[in-house]
Amino acid sequence: MTKYMPRAVRKTGLILFPAFDWCITPSHPEREERLLYTRDQIVEEGLEDVDGIEFFNPELAEYADIDRVHLCAPSSKALLTESHLISAGGAIRAAKAVMEKEVERAFAIVRPPGHHAMQTVFGDRGFCIANIEAIMVEHLRRHYGVRRIAIVDTDCHHGDGTQDIFYNDPDLLFISLHQDGRTLYPGSGFQNEAGGPAAQGYTINLPLPPGTGEEGFSMVTDRVVLPLLDAFKPELVLNSAGQDNHYSDPLTNMNFTAQGYARLNKAINPDICVLEGGYSIEGALPYTNLGIILAMAGLDTSNVREPDYDPRRFVQSALMNGQIEGICQNALDIFAARKKWDTGVRRGEEVVERKSIYYDTTGFGVDQVRHYKLCPDCPGYTEVEASGAGELMHGFTVPFNACSKCQQAARDAFARAAKAKGPREQVVLQDRVADIYETV
Ligand SMILES: [Zn+2]
Ligand SMILES: [Zn+2]
Repeated sequence: MTKYMPRAVRKTGLILFPAFDWCITPSHPEREERLLYTRDQIVEEGLEDVDGIEFFNPELAEYADIDRVHLCAPSSKALLTESHLISAGGAIRAAKAVMEKEVERAFAIVRPPGHHAMQTVFGDRGFCIANIEAIMVEHLRRHYGVRRIAIVDTDCHHGDGTQDIFYNDPDLLFISLHQDGRTLYPGSGFQNEAGGPAAQGYTINLPLPPGTGEEGFSMVTDRVVLPLLDAFKPELVLNSAGQDNHYSDPLTNMNFTAQGYARLNKAINPDICVLEGGYSIEGALPYTNLGIILAMAGLDTSNVREPDYDPRRFVQSALMNGQIEGICQNALDIFAARKKWDTGVRRGEEVVERKSIYYDTTGFGVDQVRHYKLCPDCPGYTEVEASGAGELMHGFTVPFNACSKCQQAARDAFARAAKAKGPREQVVLQDRVADIYETV
């Protein structure tokens, strides 16, 4: 008897890169085996034979793709391994497959992950060095002329790196659903983190209480994520599809399920998904990934269940529901007020933001000062000074949507800083309009 083979409703591309030769340490949760069970599950379910599901090899990202996004100290070449270039290249390949209409949707199931990597990079933090979504976004803008993009980060950890990179970008709506930062790494992602001075209200954090399950995720999706996507009208919706909200994940405290992930994907309906975390390599990842793939392809997901799945285990208390309702309301208020803040930007103003960034893998801190140089015609350029681990990075970033005056002002400031450069200091001009990365 031949097995019934469904046909994908939406042609969907998969890029699978388990990075077998790369890990932080052999016993580290972000290790080679993470995607082996997923690969087996894909084979077992016969997805390779489904009409309309296509497999693509990742490409190698170029250093220019990395340098368009990050300011790496001492350099991207010194910090990144080939696996990082392939992981970022896998995300880029997914974007290319969608933009060039090889498929309608694509999912980059790659590692190492990226969403904790910030604008300045001095090493590995939260298992991430290169922010693969951000690299994909700026690649899409540079090579395909895409402007407005929404990223919904559904990893259990706050996507602090992605937030940091796009903090002052009103053409990027960043929504992060995560376990409350008071209870989990990286300890950020509160609702008052709502965007830089030119993009207030375009960063939306939804810090959820530990123990949140299907009900809570449906609530924030229906009440916040979908209405915001509707209002923002992005050209593309991306999903940082971390799967560590799963009830079996060893690093987190949530109660989410494979069914939940499949429904979440169906609702958000992302054009491109990029895998982030997920450390329950046998109990969760094979099922959550399968649920997401089937949902993207428009196939039936009702049979995607963990062997020990029992919905009675995941009933939420009225107290928790009330808490989540409050979080939803705050998010809606922040987004609704976004236009008021937009008009507050005046010529010549500068806003200074200081932060300490901790690199947990090697254990050192970086002190950073960022100056937002505001402009009435564009989001303005930024100047950043960051020092740690014996390196001093002094960078000038011109965003892709900058006006020509800001581009010139950044060049002039870079030239002045290069002249005054200290002995351990690296001065960088990162101009995304001209696609230049110049370092002195
Ligand atoms: Zn995570
Ligand atoms: Zn400007």
